[in-house]
Amino acid sequence: MRIHNLHIYNTLTRKTEKFVPLHANLVGMYVCGPTVYNNAHLGNARTFISFDVVFRYLQHLGYKVRYVRNITDAGHLESDADEGEDKISKKAKLEQLEPMEIVQRYTVDFHGVMRAFNALPPSIEPTATGHIIEQIEMTKQILDNGFAYESNGSVYFDVEKFAKDYNYTVLTGRNLEDLLNGTRELGGQDEKRGRLDFALWIKAKPEHIMRWKSPWGEGFPGWHLECSAMSRKYLGEQFDIHGGGMDLAPTHHTNEIAQNVSCSQNNTPVRYWMHTNMLTVNGQKMSKSLGNSFLPHELFSGSHALLDKGYSPMTVRFFMLQAHYRSTLDFSNDALQAAEKGFIRLMSAMKILPTLKTADKSTVSIADLEAKIYAALDDDFNTPIALSYVFEGVRIINSVNDAKESLSTDDKIKLQELMQQIVHDVLGLQQEETANTDKIDGLMQMILDVRTEAKSRKDFSTSDLIRDRLKEIGFEIKDGKEGSTYSILK
Ligand code: AMP
Ligand code: ZN
Repeated sequence: MRIHNLHIYNTLTRKTEKFVPLHANLVGMYVCGPTVYNNAHLGNARTFISFDVVFRYLQHLGYKVRYVRNITDAGHLESDADEGEDKISKKAKLEQLEPMEIVQRYTVDFHGVMRAFNALPPSIEPTATGHIIEQIEMTKQILDNGFAYESNGSVYFDVEKFAKDYNYTVLTGRNLEDLLNGTRELGGQDEKRGRLDFALWIKAKPEHIMRWKSPWGEGFPGWHLECSAMSRKYLGEQFDIHGGGMDLAPTHHTNEIAQNVSCSQNNTPVRYWMHTNMLTVNGQKMSKSLGNSFLPHELFSGSHALLDKGYSPMTVRFFMLQAHYRSTLDFSNDALQAAEKGFIRLMSAMKILPTLKTADKSTVSIADLEAKIYAALDDDFNTPIALSYVFEGVRIINSVNDAKESLSTDDKIKLQELMQQIVHDVLGLQQEETANTDKIDGLMQMILDVRTEAKSRKDFSTSDLIRDRLKEIGFEIKDGKEGSTYSILK
């Protein structure tokens, strides 16, 4: 285990707290996964990339992490108020497909997007439909404990009853009275007793395709229940970290806590709640329903009308890590262009690093740099600050390459390890080699040889012409004592 001082901002306490796992060296982490009824958009990707860095950093520190991220393949209705159709059934009807064909299509798409962004797969990726038995069992337990009631073949959670014994709004700190006042009154037709009550089990209407047998008749589980049942099954009645987008806190996560608490009577099922902020477009949350969402492939190819050009997956990942996960991140061409330049600079420095010459002693402190990077990551995974110090590393690399600073052999090894571990292992950024990289390298070497040859004949007009023409197309030549090298500018 690396010695560290990791602190996490906990939504539950609204404080940044020292991270102490429940069991030494082990971390249990649950993140709400996608509802697979359409293509994952970039906003979704931002949330999962943020937790990928959390997963990577915890592993890097030496924890054995069990990271559970579910796939919602049933039970997610169009509205949070248990109204509307199941999102997957609706899409299946629209496309005249079996619901599981919809699930398969968009699960495959989601995995492809995650791979493109170099996000590690979670340790377990359970599905709602694969855990119907667990969800029925949990509903029974909550009924037995007196916090739910059956009504016309559906089962509802009794929020006001729960709120008498426990703090229902513990996660958001909202006032229950305000919440009640802000929710529409029940009509005579309603099956619910209280206006904040939510469904644990929903009776299937005759036309509903995705249905299972239960003690209350044929139906399907409520969306909030799946996460409670699966986190409990794989991580236990109490576990370390639960995450998701901050839009999930007021309803989905609030209800998850109520379900877990009422089932196990454990007051704090999750010790650290982490919420990511939204990716916005011109200040508005990126969402499918608002019609302002980008699909990752539209960004990679540049085919979206709002884009000037395409950006590679690593550029986009880099762009996302330049903002802290709890800040909003606004999407713009300018910001992406700046990110592209930064990412290329970083990758060029990573390539030069192994070739740096060493000296007897260093003129820079790598230990200092290391301490600053870890301090940033320990401060609630502050990737923008960590990246600014990574760029301090880039500056050192370039200065040593230009013989303006020097590095001892030990420090060079240290810097190489540091940059590899932080850039590749923790931030998940990697070189984007195209199939032609080796060929470009060979071609450039040949051009540099011709230029060196011209210089040796004192034909400086040719050697300058080669340098200038290369610069025009984005290659910068550096002449050193040991010969010439090139870097890609862009
Ligand atoms: P969904 O598939 O809608 O259940 O969303 C999957 C995850 O993406 C959830 O954690 C959401 O909070 C998150 N999410 C949705 N829209 C955005 C956005 N614009 N920015 C960041 N995260 C988002
Ligand atoms: Zn969830």
